[in-house]
Amino acid sequence: KFNTDLGQHILKNPGVAQAIVDKADLKQSDIVLEVGPGTGNLTTKILEKAKKVIACEADPRMAAEITKRFQGTPAQKRLEIILGDVLKHPQLPYFDVCISNTPYQISSPLTFRLLALSPAPRSCVLMFQREFAMRLFAQPGTKLYSRLSVNAQMWAKISHVMKVGKNNFNPPPQVESDVVKIVPKVPRPQISYDEWDGLLRICFVRKNRTLRSGFLGTTSVMEMLESNYRTYCAQNNIKLAGNPNRKKKGKVSELVRQKVTKVLVETTELCEKRARMCDEGDFLKLLYAFNQEGIHFS
Ligand code: SAM
Repeated sequence: KFNTDLGQHILKNPGVAQAIVDKADLKQSDIVLEVGPGTGNLTTKILEKAKKVIACEADPRMAAEITKRFQGTPAQKRLEIILGDVLKHPQLPYFDVCISNTPYQISSPLTFRLLALSPAPRSCVLMFQREFAMRLFAQPGTKLYSRLSVNAQMWAKISHVMKVGKNNFNPPPQVESDVVKIVPKVPRPQISYDEWDGLLRICFVRKNRTLRSGFLGTTSVMEMLESNYRTYCAQNNIKLAGNPNRKKKGKVSELVRQKVTKVLVETTELCEKRARMCDEGDFLKLLYAFNQEGIHFS
C-alpha cells in the first residue's frame, strides 16, 4: 500500500508524533508547513496547537486520504493541502515553523532550502535517517563533515531531540532515525547565502584536496570566477584590461589568477589546508578576502 520510493514510512507511534509536535513549541498564531503529511498522523496533532497547517504532499493518493480524514471536521478550514513535490514549488508560502517526518530521499535538498529561506522560519523539527542527522552535527576533520554540516551550523543552531527506532514506522525503514530541531540564528548572519554556499560548493567538490588545488588547479573553477569577475566589473564600472571579446582576453584570467593566489597564499594563508579541516571561521575569512578582491561566487 505504501510507496517506499517516496519515502512513505508512516509514523505509527502516537507518542513519538506528540513529542515531535511538543518540541516545536507551537503558538496558537503559528502557520506550520508540514512536508509529506502522508495519512495525517502528525497533521492532527499540529492542528491542535497551531492556527493553520500548510501540508505539501507529493502523492495524490495520500493527499486524497488526508483530505478525507479532515473533511467535515472543524479543523478542515485550517488545513491547506498543496499537491506536488515540495522542492519543485517555486516559492513556498509564508510559515513560522516547519515540521516533517521527512521523506529520506529529499533530506538534503529540503534542509538546504530551509536554511536558505530569508526571512527564516522560527524553527524546524524534522525526522531524518540517523546518518543524515549526524552529518548536520559533524565537526571539521571528521568523516561526515560536509557542505551540509558547514551550512547547517552557519545558519542555525541544531539540537538533537530524540532517537526513533525503525519499529515506530509502517513499513519499518532499513535504518534508525533521529528527530532534530533546527533553529535559524537571529539575527541572520549578514552575508549572502548564495555567495557563502557558492564558495562552499567549490571547496567541497573534493573535500580532501587542498584549497590551492580546488581553486588554482581546477580550470572550470577559475573560468567561473573569471566570468563572475567580468560581471562584477561591468556592474561596478571597472575597466578591464583589453577588449573582453578580443585576443587580450588572457589578461583577465591572469588577473583573476593573481587575485586568487593572493587570497589563498597571502591574505588567508589557507592554500595548503583541506576543506575537510576548515572550520566556519576559515570559510568566513576566505569569503571576505575573495570579496575584497572583487571575486564572487554567485
Ligand atoms: N507525515 C506522515 C507520517 O509521519 O506518518 C508521512 C511521512 S512519510 C516518511 C513521507 C511523506 O512525504 C509521504 O507521504 C510521501 O508521499 C511524501 N513525499 C515524498 N516526497 C515528497 C516531496 N518531494 N514533496 C512532498 N511530499 C513528499
